Amino acid sequence: MVDALAEAEGPRQRRAIAKAITLLESTRADHRAQADELLTALLPRTGRSFRLGISGVPGVGKSTFIETLGLYLIDRGHRVAVLTIDPSSTVSGGSILGDKTRMEKLSVHERAYIRPSPSSGTLGGVAEKTREAMLVCEAAGYDIVIVETVGVGQSETAVSGMTDMFVLLQLPNAGDDLQAIKKGVMELADLVVINKADIDPDAATRAQAQITSAMRLFGHHGNPAHSHVVHGAETAQRQWQPRVMQSSALQGTGIDAFWQAVTQFRNMQAASGKLAARREKQALAWMWERIDAGLKQAFRQHPSVRELLPRAVAQVAAGTLPASTAARNLLSAQAGQARPPHEN
Ligand code: GDP
Repeated sequence: MVDALAEAEGPRQRRAIAKAITLLESTRADHRAQADELLTALLPRTGRSFRLGISGVPGVGKSTFIETLGLYLIDRGHRVAVLTIDPSSTVSGGSILGDKTRMEKLSVHERAYIRPSPSSGTLGGVAEKTREAMLVCEAAGYDIVIVETVGVGQSETAVSGMTDMFVLLQLPNAGDDLQAIKKGVMELADLVVINKADIDPDAATRAQAQITSAMRLFGHHGNPAHSHVVHGAETAQRQWQPRVMQSSALQGTGIDAFWQAVTQFRNMQAASGKLAARREKQALAWMWERIDAGLKQAFRQHPSVRELLPRAVAQVAAGTLPASTAARNLLSAQAGQARPPHEN
């Protein structure tokens, strides 16, 4: 499968990508083992793309923006993969992002690959699959990977945790109600784009100014773990400052300036070592996140835990057993250290 993936673009490669991603998403243990083998084999071919995260509320124009941007990039010789994380599809089975008419031109373009969100599992599980699908696309030679999400739950954190740059799309009236903009999401954003600027240019310009000053107030999210990388005035000057821009995805305006800003960001982050540092940090965070998830699952499946859990839950809920004691008892039960049942 590795060879088929590494092949020149074409139907055979497409099929190989689809097959690889299906394997990654399978819940069968033997498939998982094959998937792990595949990912390990692919790893040397991954990491060469630029990973761009895009978020925004439903209706802000994400698919229109990604379609316009994707076609713009293909025109310039790139190959573009679009992956989505749609938490609504895992909660209700209904999907905010899944409608089939999205990105009509891009989805049929031979230099683009669009994969909808996996539709089952926890957000962590879905994010993991998307992250792995990203590696598959990279190995197949897609040099721009766009990961799209809606502002639901923790999905923005998940996307910014797997991309090199996180972009937030906003509506022109966003500045009127800064309270409505989640501060935490703003802090994740490397770039904010006021889309639909064509509808109300004045409002867009106002929003741009308001969000720019709000972002200064919040301070640069930066990368705290690596902020010591600044060695002197020269480096400090070349630090990326989050920006606010305007676009009309529908009319295609602002896309060129957007891509120039992205390219500048990419060059600055690469030169300062922050790009590599961010990826390193992300890879380790994913490892621990998956370890946590795996441990929790093993814990819940442990026979002693399954036996003791319902009673412990009831007691903690009723306030007759301290939560921390219940946790300790259950953990020792899993570790096989029999403890006398709590007297309470
Ligand atoms: P999504 O839910 O964020 O993916 O938003 P869509 O891309 O589906 O866009 C929602 C609606 O807004 C569609 O009817 C688009 O045609 C329209 N739209 C998207 N971008 C623009 C824009 O820049 N200007 C205008 N006027 N309409 C836009």
